[in-house]
Amino acid sequence: MAGFVFAKKWDETYQEYRDRAINSVSPSFCGAKWYNATIWLNMGQTTSCHHPPPHKIPLRELERSPKALHNTQYKKLVRKEMLEGIRPKECEYCWKIEDLGPDKVSDRVYKSVIYSDEELVNAKNKYSWNNDVNLKTLEISFDANCNFACSYCNASFSTTWQSDIKTNGAYQNLQTDGGGAFQHAGDDSMIYGKDQIDNPYLEAFWKWWEGDLQNSLRELRVTGGEPTMSKGFWKLMDWWKNHKECDVNFAVNSNLGQTNVLVDRLIKATHNFKNFSLYTSNESIGTHAEYIRDGLKWEVWKENAEIIIRDGNLKTFNVMMTINALCLFSITDCLEFIHSLREKYKEKTDILITLNILRFPSFQSATTLPEHIKLERAQHLQDWAENLIKTNKETNLYPDDALWGLVNQIYRLCEYLREVTQGHRFASDLEPREKDFKSFYSQYDIRRGKNFIETFPQLKEWWDSIEETKSDFVVEIKTHESNVDQNVYSREYIERAKAEGIVTDDLQNEIIEHLELKKII
Ligand code: SF4
Repeated sequence: MAGFVFAKKWDETYQEYRDRAINSVSPSFCGAKWYNATIWLNMGQTTSCHHPPPHKIPLRELERSPKALHNTQYKKLVRKEMLEGIRPKECEYCWKIEDLGPDKVSDRVYKSVIYSDEELVNAKNKYSWNNDVNLKTLEISFDANCNFACSYCNASFSTTWQSDIKTNGAYQNLQTDGGGAFQHAGDDSMIYGKDQIDNPYLEAFWKWWEGDLQNSLRELRVTGGEPTMSKGFWKLMDWWKNHKECDVNFAVNSNLGQTNVLVDRLIKATHNFKNFSLYTSNESIGTHAEYIRDGLKWEVWKENAEIIIRDGNLKTFNVMMTINALCLFSITDCLEFIHSLREKYKEKTDILITLNILRFPSFQSATTLPEHIKLERAQHLQDWAENLIKTNKETNLYPDDALWGLVNQIYRLCEYLREVTQGHRFASDLEPREKDFKSFYSQYDIRRGKNFIETFPQLKEWWDSIEETKSDFVVEIKTHESNVDQNVYSREYIERAKAEGIVTDDLQNEIIEHLELKKII
């Protein structure tokens, strides 16, 4: 299966496309729930897009078929909700945006438009909710090996974060949701060790990949950790070297903080692909970027970005912005830098940008900032976007779709900054979030040799006014971060699964054991 799909008609708005192709299946339907997955092979977890929290793939389900890597019983129940017009709780990211008004376009639309109208109808009529579906787009992580320890990441996804926690202990004095992410050492990501020996999820992936997955898949994206530090990633690169005819579009998420040797190896590998795209994360520049994404060296990142665009065989180069409280002070400088790359390499590689709003941990969300700063930043971003629309009339650097794709994302962020006060449904209140903000970054400064006030002087007055969270007890390193599973195997879903008759006694027992271990029922 080759080629990308973009199903919106040229004379349709995104709202018109949503009503015609998606809402006609169901008002809470999303193609990503059928055709897309992110799977963490090292942890045995999956989700549909990157917004719903991941859930565990029961090994018992994997014995039935390697396709259970995507088609878990839980996900099938969520599909059923969607077909019945019920909004699944795990997709609240989209409902929050849609509740801002019928003209607001959520990711449900952007993540469905990459499937044909026929494929969306097939989700309902051919597969319904209870049949296994072959993936069309897949993001996969082989392990958590990573040379960065970004402030909004944690030990489940980065071995450098694991070292911080193992060396310095759990972060103390955090009381808000998501704070627990900084109190465990990522044991859940190292179940099968650094080299993933005898990992049944990895074995299932290769079984499915060498079976029919390589034929059904339209795009495979590898994430991490940092994939270039992973044996699994280079095994896949070797597979491709011997299967250059493979039509699957390939993409990799790289932090672009590697040594010259690894960058050269990656550039060489890109030439074995028909279609290779590189995704990297950054949302600010200079000392801001180095503070938020610990491990990043701004000059190295800039240089690696340019080298790989220039010498690699890239279809697209994509910058993913994770919109957190601290990036807003140089986000437009970052947009300008990417803009300059787009201009310089317009004949060679398409350079694209996506904005993803951070929700967890909620104390790092932009909603934690003082109101006057959020409003000022929203206006600043809006001015930048309006200027882009104006100048693009002369430069034509962005075709219409790309221009409005970017501008709509920026407008959506402006609305978010102006109107949303809580990052997600269970987010803690503002005052404890502010306290945890100060508590976390004070400890981060000491552990990482950084200085918050020197880096963000514009927040000094607010910072000084906040009282840090103080608690009387010391938190030891937690052995396991359990909240990835909590919303999934809740009593409500077990009851519904039983009513639907899709949970066998064995599976039900496994789920109950799992819940009891974590004391969440
Ligand atoms: S969060 Fe939105 S985009 Fe993601 S699966 Fe749910 S509805 Fe689709």
